[in-house]
Amino acid sequence: MAVNTEQYYSILNELAAHQVQLIAVSKTKPNEDLQALYDLGQIDFGENYVQELVDKSQSLPKDIRWHFIGHLQSNKVKYIAPFVYMIHGVDSEKLLQEINKQGAKQNRIIDCLLQVHIASEETKFGFDGPSLHELLLSGRIEAYTNVRIRGLMGMASFSEDQALLSQEFSTLKSYFDMAQKAFPNGQFDTLSMGMSSDYALAIAKGSTMVRIGSLLFGARNYSK
Ligand SMILES: *Cc1c(COP(=O)(O)O)cnc(C)c1O
Repeated sequence: MAVNTEQYYSILNELAAHQVQLIAVSKTKPNEDLQALYDLGQIDFGENYVQELVDKSQSLPKDIRWHFIGHLQSNKVKYIAPFVYMIHGVDSEKLLQEINKQGAKQNRIIDCLLQVHIASEETKFGFDGPSLHELLLSGRIEAYTNVRIRGLMGMASFSEDQALLSQEFSTLKSYFDMAQKAFPNGQFDTLSMGMSSDYALAIAKGSTMVRIGSLLFGARNYSK
């Protein structure tokens, strides 16, 4: 399966009208597909698996900005800390601490998004509203000098129910607006929400960054 070039340009146009950034989600896809999109000008790629991300980063162009968008285990942070551009799924303070520690070792400040649980499903990771609020007001984040909290990330329910999705995105946007007040220096500027099936709605609800895979690369095959 190659890259859908027409779809890529049409999505880019749509996003540009709203100043929304595109992360091309390339998990399970071969290097050739990423290279093809890179050759069209795409720099930001999202991956979910640490080993796959490390392998791809070693063989693909060095100026690619790698976004880790999956569930990250603390013991694996060290493998991506030297080069990762942004970690989207920071879903606990323990993970934040570990990213800070590995960032210090690498002498880097690592950009992170706090993941918020907005879906009705139990299986999705993230802070709930009260724990996010508590962390932001605690002052503890200031001690993590090797991470920079750039915003929030969330995944809506796996559902076709537009009213439900709309409500979940609105909830995340309201947390984003609340949290932004805790970062008066302007660093808190990223709201990562929206995927292939729901990105238009996410943009209407205030997303600044969408993570799109299958629309660009075709459906994923996990059997290989
Ligand atoms: C796989 C994935 C995406 C992209 O999903 P598509 O439906 O293929 O666009 C976006 N965000 C996360 C966190 C993912 O795991």
